[in-house]
Amino acid sequence: MATKPSHSLMWNSKAECMPIEERRSLQLKRLQDLVERIAVQSPFYRSLFQKHGVKPGDIRTLDDLRRLPFTVKEDLRDNYPYELFATPLKDVVRIHCSSGTTGKPVVSGYTANDIEMWTEMMARSLTSAGASYRDVVHNSYGYGLFTGGLGIDTGARKIGAATVPMSGGVNNRQIMLMEDFGATVLTCTPSYALVLAEAAAQMGLDIRNRIKLRVGVFGAEPWTEEMRVEIEEKLHLEAYDIFGMGEIMGPGVSVECAYHNGLHMQDDNFLPEIIDPDTGEPLPPGEQGELVITTLTKEAMPLIRYRTRDITRLTDDPCPCGRTSVRHFKLTGRTDDMLIIKGVNVFPSQIEAVLLRHSELAPQYVLVVERKNNLDQLEIQVEATEAFYNQGADTISLFSEKLHYEMQQMLYVSSKIIIVPPRTVQRSEGKAKRVIDKRKEWLER
Ligand code: ADP
Ligand code: ZN
Repeated sequence: MATKPSHSLMWNSKAECMPIEERRSLQLKRLQDLVERIAVQSPFYRSLFQKHGVKPGDIRTLDDLRRLPFTVKEDLRDNYPYELFATPLKDVVRIHCSSGTTGKPVVSGYTANDIEMWTEMMARSLTSAGASYRDVVHNSYGYGLFTGGLGIDTGARKIGAATVPMSGGVNNRQIMLMEDFGATVLTCTPSYALVLAEAAAQMGLDIRNRIKLRVGVFGAEPWTEEMRVEIEEKLHLEAYDIFGMGEIMGPGVSVECAYHNGLHMQDDNFLPEIIDPDTGEPLPPGEQGELVITTLTKEAMPLIRYRTRDITRLTDDPCPCGRTSVRHFKLTGRTDDMLIIKGVNVFPSQIEAVLLRHSELAPQYVLVVERKNNLDQLEIQVEATEAFYNQGADTISLFSEKLHYEMQQMLYVSSKIIIVPPRTVQRSEGKAKRVIDKRKEWLER
């Protein structure tokens, strides 16, 4: 945790620092209104509530939330495209959807009020990261159906920053424009931030003196504290974690403050819970489990107890910044990204944390999981730095033996370590693909 914050900016201190009791009554009131509204207006929730025997009057306290049924991703897929909308299409002003590489995409709709709320949440988020009207925001999140680009864009406009709507790709041009336009804030996935740092280095550009970046707002994929250090060193900026998902809204569901001690959930709009992913039982604050979110104010596509599949823990310990919202810690990963290798559960983020402790390695890796002779096998392909690679095969082989041993000690998993030459792991413009699970490909065939 940062003991001395770099700033104390806040977009809406009245809402963000609302006394806890007041916040709770607001949440309850909003929850009651929501349940009442969708029990009438949403055919999906009307029949789900009937099936589970719940009525709007059942919600008397916030604890009654747990009487409501969960919503899962399959519900969104099964009700493609509009069946989950709780308002007529004439009131919808924007439609986003997931990339949908497997099957039908997951759709989300927004009324004008929803977009306004999202804009407000993004204004709060960017301000929480120390951005203001004085900044030039270089936005490399993808514009289009993906919520990252437009989400950041509307928030940056709201705070009055000069926004450069870049999207990802053509890395050298990004560096040139960052330098020429005097970008002070960079927004993109953490993996793309590293790609940009690498591009600048290859161009021989002295980032510290030629690029004015001060702040980075990174999200849309898991990244470790080790990755934060790496990015901050390479780009000379202060990195903030932002979380969101298309179904819930887009970026801005939660964000770090200048203390970097967890992400403040914007819980006047998004009510979080943590559940045991196996039993569905709610877990007390501090315990790790699956994040479940209820959208308290969304009109077009409200979601009740949406199972995000993201793994984290919550804390309601007071934050020195003064915001009174609940915080969640950096996401460990998603339940569907968890690798089960010979019965041991491993998240890619745990492997990343071990890899990034070594200065011999570049922060670029891919995990290949296969099943051979009925046994799961994990192969970790990780790039050597240029300097280390030049030390030759013997040194590299000795190092990979050491790394193999260390990985086994830390994760209780035996893996095959392959150190690959610099710049051979595929780079991405958006979310990095870190896991190739050949077992799943085999099943899908
Ligand atoms: P978005 O458009 O906001 O990226 P997607 O629906 O494409 O939304 O993806 C949302 C998922 O991305 C989340 O459920 C989570 O798994 C991941 N994600 C988003 N932000 C973060 C973050 N800051 N840290 C870790 N994972 C994240
Ligand atoms: Zn804080």
